[in-house]
Parts: sequence; structure tokens; C-alpha cells
Amino acid sequence: MAIKSEASPDEFFDELEIMPPETREKYLNQRLSETLAHAYRHAPAVKEIFDKAGVSPSQIRTIKDLERLPITRKTDLIELQKANPPYGGFLAIPSEEVDRIFISPGPVYEPIQHAGIKWFAKSFWAAGFRKGDVVINTFTYHMSPAGILFHEALRDCGATAIPMGTGNTEVQIKTMHDLKVTGFVGTPSFLMTIIKRAEEMGYNFPRDFTLQRAWFTGEMLPPSLRKTLEEDYQIATAQAYAVTEPGGALAYECHQKTGMHLMDEYVIEIVDPETGKQLGPGEAGEIVVTPVHNKVWGLIRFGTGDMSSYITEPCPCGRTSNRLTAILGRTGDAVKVRGMFVVAKQAEQLFSSFDQILRFQVIVGRKAERDEMTFKVELKDEAIDKKKLAEDLNKKFQGICLVRADKIEFVPGGTIPEEREIIVDQRKWE
Ligand SMILES: [Zn+2]
Repeated sequence: MAIKSEASPDEFFDELEIMPPETREKYLNQRLSETLAHAYRHAPAVKEIFDKAGVSPSQIRTIKDLERLPITRKTDLIELQKANPPYGGFLAIPSEEVDRIFISPGPVYEPIQHAGIKWFAKSFWAAGFRKGDVVINTFTYHMSPAGILFHEALRDCGATAIPMGTGNTEVQIKTMHDLKVTGFVGTPSFLMTIIKRAEEMGYNFPRDFTLQRAWFTGEMLPPSLRKTLEEDYQIATAQAYAVTEPGGALAYECHQKTGMHLMDEYVIEIVDPETGKQLGPGEAGEIVVTPVHNKVWGLIRFGTGDMSSYITEPCPCGRTSNRLTAILGRTGDAVKVRGMFVVAKQAEQLFSSFDQILRFQVIVGRKAERDEMTFKVELKDEAIDKKKLAEDLNKKFQGICLVRADKIEFVPGGTIPEEREIIVDQRKWE
């Protein structure tokens, strides 16, 4: 249900999106306590997690208290389900109450009970999907939750949904053309495939099609592709971060496109993947999620393996939740330097934003009990102001990764191999 707001009527999907931060804290703590108490009582695997940690559900009253519980990762879930099929002891309702069962690679079996939950609707609503939109959903409807849950969310926004599923580019193009499709749901790369193919078939995409908005998940939307879609094709874009195992969209963009608002149906922590301790705003860490919106699946502190950071600055859209900055990479590609995680993919994006740089490598070592980080940089053209570049690079790096390089070495062309580790952690061999 949309609520009225003076600033922008029709902007918000529900009241949760605009809770004052203190109200949100209370709301989430309350939901967390209820969820944990229920899961402890009904899901044997959850009871075991608590008992092993020597903690009782009544001791977890706040999000901060969650640090006392271990992180469960996908590999743990696979092993637990193998040992105790089919749900590994995480089902917290009678099995005949299960509405549907999704299967993700592993395999991991994920039970879901609908219970009126509007899974992804907020995310589609924020992206502008409304009654009157005709939308192709190009995610698979088989096994994975993506197809059906996105479909239902589009319907919750009032849009007409076409269950296209994956592939069949030319059928997608014909459908989009014949049914005057206004919305696309899928991956950015698949939308580009469709547009390119349509152009090869002789269409002028902006003229011959009615596509107005696109919603993406599954891969991050590169800024250059966003610019192409929005400026050259006049398609409004929005992206969301979704994870299969906890069953949903965890964060979503509003029209401001300055990070992804956290959903209030989950407790989302950014933690040090090595210790499970919660990190502060701006610090890169693993996204850990505890669903607090349903009582089916007692998943607690699920470690996604994805790295991100969050910001707390208010968003001009009026939503009050914290935002994820971006998905920075996987935990396996992250290296801790003086307490801060630096992720290979993030470093790559950062260095590639400097046109003067051809190749680079980040070397992390240790000197006198202190982590030391060196950037090796190969230039496209030696005749530039290296001192200024080094300053700009380090300033930008510190702004994003919250840690500075101790040394920046400009090395001769050909020194850094093309096939290389982006971050070399020399401490591993000490
Ligand atoms: Zn916003």
C-alpha cells in the first residue's frame, strides 16, 4: 500500500521505508527477538547453533548482540542439509505448511511460505513500476526463486508481468515489440544483448520499442552501461542486491541511485569475515543477513560471501534506511590491511578510473609489526606529473578503502604481467 507524502506522493511503498532511525532500531530488534525465539523453539539446527555458542535466545536483544552467534555460510548449509535432509534442521514450521521449495546450486533446498509477504515489491516500486506497465521478466522460473518472486512483486506494484524466462532473444524482441512492453527485469548484459540483436534485425530501438524502465539484479550495473541505457536509449535503470538462500532482495536503489537502501525485512550486518565482528559505516566487510520477516526458515547470520560497505547519510528520496554502497567483490578476494579490507575488484575499478595508468598491482607486506601497502604502477605515458598522480591516487584510494598506500612505485613498462594477482599478500609466506 502506498502512503501519501507531501514531498512526493506515490514515492514510498510502505511506512517502513520512512521510519525514523530510532523507530527502525526498535522495530528490527523486536522482529529479531521474535524470529530467534521462534527458530530456537522449532528448528533443531538453530537450537544447536545457540547451544554450541552458549547463548540463549533471550540474550540476543539487539543487532549488536548477534555478534555472539557464528556465521553460517553456503558451504555449511550444504553440509548440514546433506547430513540432515532435506532442510538441515532449519525448517521452523510443519513441512505440510511449506508453500513452495526452491533449489539453488549445492543443492540447497529452500522452503518458503508465502504468508502475504510482498517479497521484492518495494524494490520494483522504487524503480517506478506501476499499474499500466507491461513487463518482461527474463529470470528463470525453474527451481530458483527469481522468476516467481519477481513476477509476484511486479503484480504487487500493479504491473502486468510476462513470464519470459531466460534466453530466446528473438522471441523476447518480438514479444517486447508486439505487446508494447514498458519494463524489463533481468541482467544488464541480457538487456544489452536484446538491444543489439534488435538493432541487427533492423529496428531503431528507441523509435520502435516502448521500453521505459529496467530493473536489474544478478550482476552489478557498470556506470558506463548505465549511461548508455539512460542517455542513448532513454531507459530508466534501477538495481537491487538479492541473495537466493535468505530468499530475497536485501537492498534496492531509489531514483537517486546513490547506494542501495536496506530492506527492513532483514537484519543486515557488514562484518569482518574473519571474526564476525560488525564494522562501521564506510568499512568494507562481508554482508551477513538474518531474515526477520518470516518464520519458515531459521536462517541466522547467513554469510553471503559478498563484500560491501554501508552509508548512513540521509537519502534525498526520503527513505531513511542505511544504504549499501555497491557489491565490491567476494570475501576470498579481500585482503586486510591495517584493519581495513581491500577487495581486488574494488581496487581494479579504482585504478582503472585513472586514464594514465596501464597496469597496477597492490603489494601487502609487513614491516616492524605494521602492514605495509605498496602500489606498483605502470604508466601509459611516462611524461606525466607522477607526484600529482601518486597524490590523487592515494587520496582517492583512502577515500574509498579507508587506508593509504605507504609507497607508490612507478615501474617500467612490461614489469607487471598481464595475468596477475591484483593484490599480492606477502604476509601469507612470513
Ligand atoms: Zn533513496
